[in-house]
Amino acid sequence: MGEVQTFRGPVEASDLGVTLIHEHVFVGHPELDLNFPHPEWDEAAAVESAVAGLDRLFDLGVRTVVDLTVLGLGRDVARVSQVAARSRVQLVASTGYYTADVLPPYFHTHGPGLLIDRPDPLVEIFVADIEDGIAGTGVRAGMLKVVTDRAGFTPDVTRVMTAAAVAHQQTGVPITTHTHAPSQSGRDQLAFLGRHGVEPDRIIVGHCGDSEDLSYLRELADAGATLGMDRFGMEHVLDDESRVRTVLALLDLGYADRMVLSHDAAFFSRVTPPSWRAVHVPNWHMENLHRRIVPMLREGGAAEDDLHQMLVVNPARLLAPH
Ligand SMILES: [Zn+2]
Repeated sequence: MGEVQTFRGPVEASDLGVTLIHEHVFVGHPELDLNFPHPEWDEAAAVESAVAGLDRLFDLGVRTVVDLTVLGLGRDVARVSQVAARSRVQLVASTGYYTADVLPPYFHTHGPGLLIDRPDPLVEIFVADIEDGIAGTGVRAGMLKVVTDRAGFTPDVTRVMTAAAVAHQQTGVPITTHTHAPSQSGRDQLAFLGRHGVEPDRIIVGHCGDSEDLSYLRELADAGATLGMDRFGMEHVLDDESRVRTVLALLDLGYADRMVLSHDAAFFSRVTPPSWRAVHVPNWHMENLHRRIVPMLREGGAAEDDLHQMLVVNPARLLAPH
């Protein structure tokens, strides 16, 4: 199938095993962290809790976790490398830019036709992250991530999407999107990326699990995209019972090969810190699938083959660059 880059080097896609394809190890904000450290953040303790959390995942059968923490979310690959070095779970790094509307001012002065007239640094960053490694760590990205949200295709969002499409064409690395489910933005993303040379079968439309609109979801899957049912436990957006019902309905319709399952959880996120999660979304952690959701899916009639397809086969197919 081909080799997938992980924090500890290349792995055959067929050896990835059970894969959580949309998670975060640590989400932060370097400038805020520097000037206004979060009271719940303690780097050494966070590394220990991530190592312990991944150990528990390994014991549940998880073998690979894709860290979709890209630029804009406080990506620190050197820090995550400390976790990866001590974990039996394989971690995959990613590249891309997380912005729902505007990029930092640097990008407004650097690029084609701008004050410092040069090729788009976004393309250079994405391709270098994938081909050479991230920030001198030697860790190569195995996934691209882009975002559209309520604001839709703003000029900067369009620029990020375009750069990701170029990087995809040069490297074959798949693209995961963040969508705003209420505005059904997956449709526009597929159309845009398609016009920029990205085949739908190389795209995971993220956060599809936030939607219960089967006609929208089927439209994306029928176009060839993979649906990210990737926020189990994020019950402040939609409860897990509803998320499970949607997956079961799509399985009944024969879409096992078009879905991947994950949580979009984090071992630490400054956006929704541990104390808040513990009170409001106690199931929002990376063990939720194996402890609660997979049993609910089985009870609802999901076949073992379907679970294997969504947790092993589909992630391997997507992550293998081509
Ligand atoms: Zn995410």
